[in-house]
Amino acid sequence: MKLQKILENVYLVDLEPSIENFEKFIASYIVLGEKVAIIETGPRCSVEGILEALDKIGVGLEEVDYVAVSHIHLDHAGGVGTLLKKLPNAKLVVHEKGVFHMSNPTKLWESSKQVLGWLAEKYGELEPVPSEKILVGKDGLKIDLGKNIKIDVLETPGHASHHLSFFNQEGGVLFVGEVGGIYSEEFNIVRPSTPPPSFDPIQNFRSIDRLVNLNPKILCYSHFGVTKEIQKLSIYKDRLKLWLRIVAEEYKQKSVEEIFEKILEEDRNVRPIANLWRERFFMLNSVKGMVYYLERHGLPSSWDK
Ligand SMILES: [Zn+2]
Repeated sequence: MKLQKILENVYLVDLEPSIENFEKFIASYIVLGEKVAIIETGPRCSVEGILEALDKIGVGLEEVDYVAVSHIHLDHAGGVGTLLKKLPNAKLVVHEKGVFHMSNPTKLWESSKQVLGWLAEKYGELEPVPSEKILVGKDGLKIDLGKNIKIDVLETPGHASHHLSFFNQEGGVLFVGEVGGIYSEEFNIVRPSTPPPSFDPIQNFRSIDRLVNLNPKILCYSHFGVTKEIQKLSIYKDRLKLWLRIVAEEYKQKSVEEIFEKILEEDRNVRPIANLWRERFFMLNSVKGMVYYLERHGLPSSWDK
């Protein structure tokens, strides 16, 4: 775990799960008001890191009131059940579509193993959350931490249908989640994160437009870190469109690997990360998510708006 104070009242925790090359990849944010919120728990295997971070900041376990997750994938919400056992006063904020899976995680665990394979085992199996501890995260809900710190909950489907972003209007701080892709500070790039089965490009574009219209000042990415380059949101939208066009042209005759090579020919910005195994693994999965969508829906006529 590495802890970094990024704003007066916001800390970034690099959860560093014990998986090769997973440093600077999974973030959790701790927001302090009179009350305390944790945004993203990461997987179960790194819950200990959050507890350590709270201890270092000097936040008592009973002082945490909210644990909010952008969506229910294991690397964002896999640790919720385990963490909530340690936080006597905390409520979970999760999209309506995630409520059932958080209190009955068996099916989510099985499908995660199918999509992620060995990585799901590394992340660790979810523990259930008692349903009375769950708040439905939806448009209009405000997480009020006192001291004039409020966090608006926004429904932002696209990466997944059960995706939320969180926005602190006073500071212009936007917790993007994963609907804005994966940000790498080191390579100064945002790359697609569009896994099967629930990636939906049209919803993803709309969600990005919605986030741009908030006029945020700071973007906090769950993968990974913080930037003031707000244009990263629109750059991401353009990159998604480019990749989708290429995948749509190629998926009927080419393998996922071959499509990815084609993408690298056209999108030179992602070349520097293409041979890092972690990035390659997830980018191939993103191509699979695009193929999965296109096989079922094709490219909608309005897709390039
Ligand atoms: Zn993720």
